Amino acid sequence: MLAALLYGQEDLRLEQVPEPIPAEGEVVIQVGAATTCGTDLKVWRRGGHAKMLTPPTLFGHEAAGTIVAVGTGVTNWQVGNRIVANNSAPCMKCFFCQRQEYSLCPNLTWNNGTFAEYLKIPAPIVQQNMLRLPDELPFALAAMTEPLACVLHGVARSQVKPQDRVVVLGDGAIGLMFVAVLAAKAEVLLWGGNDQRLEIGKKLGASQTFNYHQVADIPGVVQALTEGWGADVVIEATGVPSVWEIAIACARPGATVNLFGGCPKDTTITVNTEKLHYSELTLKGVFHNTPEYVRAALSLIASRKIPFELLISEQRPLKDLEQVFADMKARQVIKVAMLPC
Ligand SMILES: [Zn+2]
Ligand SMILES: [Zn+2]
Repeated sequence: MLAALLYGQEDLRLEQVPEPIPAEGEVVIQVGAATTCGTDLKVWRRGGHAKMLTPPTLFGHEAAGTIVAVGTGVTNWQVGNRIVANNSAPCMKCFFCQRQEYSLCPNLTWNNGTFAEYLKIPAPIVQQNMLRLPDELPFALAAMTEPLACVLHGVARSQVKPQDRVVVLGDGAIGLMFVAVLAAKAEVLLWGGNDQRLEIGKKLGASQTFNYHQVADIPGVVQALTEGWGADVVIEATGVPSVWEIAIACARPGATVNLFGGCPKDTTITVNTEKLHYSELTLKGVFHNTPEYVRAALSLIASRKIPFELLISEQRPLKDLEQVFADMKARQVIKVAMLPC
């Protein structure tokens, strides 16, 4: 079958590899659609990821498709089932899993390889994090379950109250998903660097959008819009240390700052101790998702209450993958649904 392999920094190759065969507890799906992700771009540019993978490796982690083979011991799934599988599953046994802190599980089983014709789903994911799709739900929409699950996890940890003024920094798919989910109950101010994405942010419910190329003093503008106090909640969705510092500067006393975008290894930020202490800030790191949010994400997508299709810039055949990564690097597309035919 045709599959993408990541060899290192900006070195992604489409190659013929053997089709996967499911071992005990595993299933194999024919990929219906695999969506690209900001994390893929980051991993491709950095040539690896501390937790998810080590090159050379099959690549891509958001997909939905149809089961074509089941391993021994798999009882409640059949060939022909349409499914989405999260890219990880917790062990359910460790210190953190026993405390229901599944995203902190040090034994997460990761799965990569969605940019391919077929994808093997490991047994822990089959058991914990594989879900059946409603008949009419397109694969490309269902494939966004994983990033949306991360966002719902982030929203749940952000302590947003009705009518809060929330600043979202970052107009990538994750920032835009935060906008879409939070706009239902809060006033969302979205900052990004790309007018087309900011326009989509408006369609998803942002009450105001700002291009940081045109308005440089982000905390100043936020204060001017909030009687000088700052935002009730700030969501950082870029993964750039200097933007983490800007996020903290945008916060009002008593605010929660969700530092959601993962920064490069070994980077640090500086926090003013006086502001942190006397302003009673909550600085919250939030990583990845849990089985609860994977389920919540699929049901939100399937409800069709939010037009998540706005995040899919285009559909492309798998053979165009290298070009698609170049387009992502140039920020010409948000998400692309790769179709393996
Ligand atoms: Zn992703
Ligand atoms: Zn665990």
